[in-house]
Amino acid sequence: MSQLDALVIGAGFAGATVARKLAEAGKQVLVVERRDHIGGNAYDCLDDEGVLIHKYGPHIFHTGHKEVYDFLSRFTAWRDYSHRVVANVYGQLMPVPFNLTSLDIAYEQRSAALAEKLLAAYGPERKVTILELRQSDDPELAELADYVYENIFKTYTMKQWGQTPEEIDPATTARVPVFLSRDDRYFQDLYQGMPLEGYAALFERLLDHPNIEVRLNTDAADVLTLTQVGTTLVNGEPFKGPIVYTGAVDGLFDRRFGRLPYRTLDFVFETHPVEWYQTHGTVNYTVDQPFTRITEFKHLTGQVLPKKTTIMKEFSKEFTGEDGQIPYYAVINPENKALYGQYAALAAEYPNLHLLGRLAEYQYYNMDAIVKRALELADRLSSAKD
Ligand code: FAD
Ligand code: UDP
Repeated sequence: MSQLDALVIGAGFAGATVARKLAEAGKQVLVVERRDHIGGNAYDCLDDEGVLIHKYGPHIFHTGHKEVYDFLSRFTAWRDYSHRVVANVYGQLMPVPFNLTSLDIAYEQRSAALAEKLLAAYGPERKVTILELRQSDDPELAELADYVYENIFKTYTMKQWGQTPEEIDPATTARVPVFLSRDDRYFQDLYQGMPLEGYAALFERLLDHPNIEVRLNTDAADVLTLTQVGTTLVNGEPFKGPIVYTGAVDGLFDRRFGRLPYRTLDFVFETHPVEWYQTHGTVNYTVDQPFTRITEFKHLTGQVLPKKTTIMKEFSKEFTGEDGQIPYYAVINPENKALYGQYAALAAEYPNLHLLGRLAEYQYYNMDAIVKRALELADRLSSAKD
C-alpha cells in the first residue's frame, strides 16, 4: 500500500464496516487482524463433517435499524429465519423468553387465571423484566415471579456470569424479559435473518474493495506504536490519520491499570449421525447441566444435510488472559466501568485513536448496534478535514 490514510485493527463487524465506509470515501485503509480469518466472532465455516458452524457461538442477525439492514444487504441476501429458543426445565421444554405459552406449560389449569392477572397488571404484549416482576406484591404474581426466577434465570445466570441475577447489570437479564404474548420468537425486531451464504461470505464482500488491504495473523502491536506524547507511529513512521481499534482496550496499554474483567466461553462441538438433534435452534439448560445452552446450527443456517448434524455446547468461565482465551462478554458493573474509564481516558490522549466495538467500548452490543456505531464513526471521520 503506497499511501495509508486509515488503520483499522480488527476485522469483525466494527472494523470491517468502518473500513468499507472509509474506503468508499476514497481513503486507503489497512485492516490488521490477529486471527487467521476475517469476521471476528461472527465467523462461520464448515467443520470436518461439512456442517456449517459458527466457530465463536451462535450468531443470529436482528435489527430495528433500517440503515443497518440496508447497508449489510449490499453484501448478502438473507435467509428468512426467526430464532426460537426453549428452556429445558427438568425435561419439559418451554419458550424463552418466558411467555403466555410457557405459562400454560408451567401452570396448566392455573395458567388462564394467572395470565389474566398478568395482563391486568402490565398490559398485553408487554415485556416485563424478571427483576420488575419480582417486585409484584400480588401473592400469586410473586409466586409466578419466583417460579420464573428459579427455573429460567437463577441457574443459567450463575453458569453464565458466576453471579446471581441481582448481582449482574440489570440490562443483561432485561434482554430476555417475561413477554406477555404468544409470540415465541427470541427477537421481535422488524428485520431478522441469517446471511444466505453465511457470515464469512458476507465479510469477504464487505472487505472486497480496491482501497482496502487486509493483513491477517497480524497484531496491532506489529504495526502500531503509541508514544508517550500522544502521537502514533504506524510501521515506525509518524501517522496522523484515523486509527480505529476494535480489540480489548487494556491490551493496547499493556494492562497498566490492571486487567479488564471479561467472561470467556469454551465451545464443545459434537456431530451426530441424525437428521435433527433437537426441535429448536437453541435449547437453554436453565436448571441443570454445566453448560448454558445447546445450539444446533442447521436450524439457523438452513443447510440441508441428510443424517448429519452438528451441535455446540457453551461453557462460560472467567477470562484469565491465558494463551488462546478470547474475551467474549464484558462484566459490566460500576467498578469495572471505572477501570474501563481510566483506559478510555488514556486512549483519548491520542486524538486520532478511536475505540469502537463490543470489546473496545466494553459494552454488551449486538452485531447491529456495532454496525450502526461503525457507520456513524465512519461518517464523522469521512467528513472531518484531512
Ligand atoms: P469482534 O467480532 O470481537 O471483532 C474484533 C476483532 O478484532 C476480532 O477478530 C479480533 O481477533 C480482532 N482483534 C482484537 N484485538 C486485536 C489486536 N490487538 N490486533 C489485531 N486484531 C485484534 N450479536 C447478535 O447480534 N446476534 C447474536 O445472535 C449474537 N450472538 C453472540 C453469541 C456469542 C457467544 C457472543 C460472544 C456474541 C454474540 N453476539 C451476537 C455479539 C456479536 O458477536 C458482536 O456484537 C460482534 O461480533 C461485535 O463485533 P466487533 O467487531 O466489535 O468485535
Ligand atoms: N438468561 C437466563 N436464562 C435464559 C436466557 C437468558 O437467565 O434462559 C439471562 C442470563 O443472565 C443471560 C442474559 O439473560 O446472560 C442474556 O441472555 P441472552 O440470550 O441475551 O445472552 P447472549 O445470547 O448474549 O449470550
